[in-house]
Formats: sequence, structure tokens, C-alpha cells
Amino acid sequence: MIVAQRKPFPEILSTIRDYEKILTVGCGTCVAVCLAGGAQEVSTLNWELSAARSLRDQPLELGEATVTRQCDHEFLAELDSLVQGYQALLSMACGVGIQFLAERYPDKPVLPAVDTSGMSGNRDVGWYEERCRGCGRCVLASTAGVCPITMCAKGLLNGPCGGTSGQYCETNPDQPCAWHTIYHRLAGQGRLKDILEYQPPQEWRNQVPRTIVQPGYGHELENEGAETA
Ligand code: SF4
Ligand code: SF4
Repeated sequence: MIVAQRKPFPEILSTIRDYEKILTVGCGTCVAVCLAGGAQEVSTLNWELSAARSLRDQPLELGEATVTRQCDHEFLAELDSLVQGYQALLSMACGVGIQFLAERYPDKPVLPAVDTSGMSGNRDVGWYEERCRGCGRCVLASTAGVCPITMCAKGLLNGPCGGTSGQYCETNPDQPCAWHTIYHRLAGQGRLKDILEYQPPQEWRNQVPRTIVQPGYGHELENEGAETA
């Protein structure tokens, strides 16, 4: 899931300094699960903002709304009649949701209240580990299910950097070296030869917005940049 964290409160307060009527918009999916931007977090943030502005004698009128997913126009539609009454929107969704909100209401300033970290797994309650950076060309087949882009500090695709210290990364003595893990997991599976499979440099197609069209939904390809899954 996508994981995010609420921005530091002074930063949010500064972001909204020019506005007196703001709608805080939460998202009911990923950011709600990681307790960064669901309905509860929207209410808490609004309460804190009200108190802070009140102490400064700066008027502030806040509204709140949480949609099922901000990254889906279908769910944003329910905000259409609401947003016109506000000067600005404060979004607690991930970066995708914030951008969809800004796209739908281009005449409104849309301000982020969270920092989006990435795609992570749930290691324990409230403990998220990043595992994928959405590179667009997954190499997990030859790396024993260990992502070298996310788990290696240098994002190396073809073996370790040479600085491995024991089984740990040279940049962090608490972080296992990704390539140490890859080597030993492949060895345990009797397929060490896979480590010799050369991985060409990533094209980093994530430097331009990628579009994926799932054929299963029956859509026609709408533009040349779209990939079929
Ligand atoms: S190689 Fe890593 S970053 Fe790329 S898709 Fe696979 S898990 Fe994600
Ligand atoms: S020590 Fe291992 S994980 Fe750390 S940068 Fe080098 S290869 Fe990557």
C-alpha cells in the first residue's frame, strides 16, 4: 500500500496562512490504514488548526470531508457541490490523490498536508517497510524476490558494491546488504546461476507519467504512452 505521514504541524500552518476558509479532504484507503489521512486524522488536524489560529486571533473556518479514494474521480464527484464554498483545499491523501484533487478543481489552491513515502508492506502494527519504488520493470525473478532498487542503498542491479560489511550494508550497520540476502536466498533455492543474469540499466520510465490500460476492463488504448498490462 501507499504510505504517507502527516507533515510537521508548523509546515501545515504556514501552508494555509493566506486562507480563512478551508476544506480538509481525507482519503479512506491507504492513508486511512496508515493513520495519516483518514476521517479521524482530518478531524484531529482541523481541531489543531482551529486552536492554533484562534490563539493567533486569525479567523479560520474549516470544513471536512473524506472520500473513499482521492485517486479516483468517481469518488471526487461527491465533493463538487462542496468545494465552491471554500478558498482552498487541504488534502490528506497521498501525492496521487492530491494531484487528482488539484486537477478536478483547477481554480482552487490544493495544499498537501501529508508527505508520501512510497509503497510499503505492513511489518507489524504501524510499522511499514518500503519494498517497491514502482520502477516499471520488475527484476524480482532473478533476485530471489528481493528488490535491489529499494533494499540496496545504491539501487544496484547487478551485484554488490564491494562495501558489504559482513551481512550488512556499508551505509547502515543495521540494514542487511540486499545483495547478501539475494545471494544466500538464491543459493538456498539452488539457483545461484540466476545472479549472473545481466540486468540492463533501468530506463527510469518513471521520469514521465506512465499510464497503464488494463485490457480486462475493455478499454481502448487512448494514447501512445499507455502500456497494456
Ligand atoms: S524491481 Fe523493485 S522497484 Fe522495480 S517493480 Fe520490482 S519491486 Fe518494484
Ligand atoms: S553494501 Fe550491499 S546494500 Fe549496501 S550499497 Fe553495497 S550492495 Fe547495496
